[in-house]
Amino acid sequence: MLGGAVMKAHNPRTGKEDYEFAVAGPEEVQAISARLRGLQPGWEALGPDGRAALLLRWADAMEQAAPAIVTALAQDTGRSTISNIEVQAAVGNIRRWAARGTELIQGLPRGPSPSVTPGIEIETDYSAYPLFGAIAPWNFPVLLSHVDAVPALMAGCAALIKPSEQTPRFVEPMRSVLAAVPELPLAYALGGPETGQSVVDAVDYVCFTGSTGTGRKVAEAAGRRLIPANLELGGKDPMIVTSSAEPEWAAAIALRASIVATGQACQSIERVYVARAIAEPFLAALVELAQGVEFAFPDPEKGTLGPFIVPAQGNTVAAQLAEARGQGARVLTGGEVETLGGGRYLRPTVLVDVTPQMAVMREETFGPVIPVTMFDHIDEAIAAANDTQYGLSAAVLAGDLEEAAAIGARLDAGAISLQDGALTSIVGDATNHSRKASGLGPSRMGDEGLLRFMRRKALIHQKGAAAPLAAFAEEGGA
Ligand code: NAD
Repeated sequence: MLGGAVMKAHNPRTGKEDYEFAVAGPEEVQAISARLRGLQPGWEALGPDGRAALLLRWADAMEQAAPAIVTALAQDTGRSTISNIEVQAAVGNIRRWAARGTELIQGLPRGPSPSVTPGIEIETDYSAYPLFGAIAPWNFPVLLSHVDAVPALMAGCAALIKPSEQTPRFVEPMRSVLAAVPELPLAYALGGPETGQSVVDAVDYVCFTGSTGTGRKVAEAAGRRLIPANLELGGKDPMIVTSSAEPEWAAAIALRASIVATGQACQSIERVYVARAIAEPFLAALVELAQGVEFAFPDPEKGTLGPFIVPAQGNTVAAQLAEARGQGARVLTGGEVETLGGGRYLRPTVLVDVTPQMAVMREETFGPVIPVTMFDHIDEAIAAANDTQYGLSAAVLAGDLEEAAAIGARLDAGAISLQDGALTSIVGDATNHSRKASGLGPSRMGDEGLLRFMRRKALIHQKGAAAPLAAFAEEGGA
């Protein structure tokens, strides 16, 4: 029982535990859930127009409170510019779903329409799962806490969000924003794994974003309760650069897609396969560009690379680099996790002479590390790219889109960026299904992102004569 318990959170820039918050124990999660369930029927009854209007009011209030939310988020993540972009993106996500959700729900086929069974017509009724739950990770705390909750709210659900215990500070200003829309059936429950378990125990539908290991536990708990669980998990995204690609152009894309947010993004490029014919100019450009990247330290407003959000993440990345070096990998630039002002940083790190067995090639790294492997034939590159437990996303850079698309068709992942990298970080309407250990369930992007929260009820009209008992008798009248 965690009631009354408090937890502390690290500051990624100082390494100090400087924030304390109250943990929602099982009883509190139950009480919040009961309150949300009480609000939900009225919310759903507002219809799509009524819900969209209130979601837009929420977006406006968030925009007004953006300075406070960004400040808290910047303390959570150690990032300044990205925190600003993240909050704007979260506001944009609400506005986009308010508009698209209204069109979608109003356009749903309801019937009645004729069945293939003679004399029958079918009408379809839609109703939302009453209580939706989100369990979120620390790498984009605001965005990933709300990415599924917003379409769930638009569909008519109430929403209970459990952010990561590593990044709790943004919740205080977000709770204040809720005062502008008291009708909104939305609440936050802070805490660690036990609070997450209580959320799975309380809701009717859960969306989990986080590591594959925790995802399996959430899926098992949801399975015991027979509630749907959508999982958005880890990745080890490959990028293939063919011999027809322009090397400097490809290097700039590979660098950006690997190091944005210090590589702490699920769709970061974590392995690069480059055609041997262009490997030399590609690597030269990659190293030169990598060496031009500055830390966002001491001024968080200047420079590109912020600290690792979670101290342990720096250790994981350092251990992968040490293992790779020990097995013969060469570091062309970067390579040392540094401690500055109490925070932990890593310069963009380019590795060559890596082997498929190294952890840096098999396990999620979640850091600004770019292991580069050369290939002679495209079949080799495709086989190596697909040789992973993950299937989140991938990227192909070639001389033209047609060549890139032909390779993309052979990659075993849910979303493929062609002639760019990590496009799912900026494109919200590309329906895709994460493969293998990267996820489970319908797409969070595109219209499916909302429609998954609406249950269908079939109202089956008998327009002809009701079938007599004799119609069901076995042949021969047994
Ligand atoms: P994590 O799995 O450690 O934690 C995620 C959340 O689950 C946290 O809120 C945590 O408190 C909660 N949790 C932990 N144990 C639980 C349990 N037994 N039951 C219920 N909830 C529990 O992940 P993280 O370290 O916070 O995030 C990083 C991971 O997230 C990386 O693997 C990354 O690839 C992944 N990620 C995936 C996507 C995607 O869309 N596929 C997006 C961002 C991050």
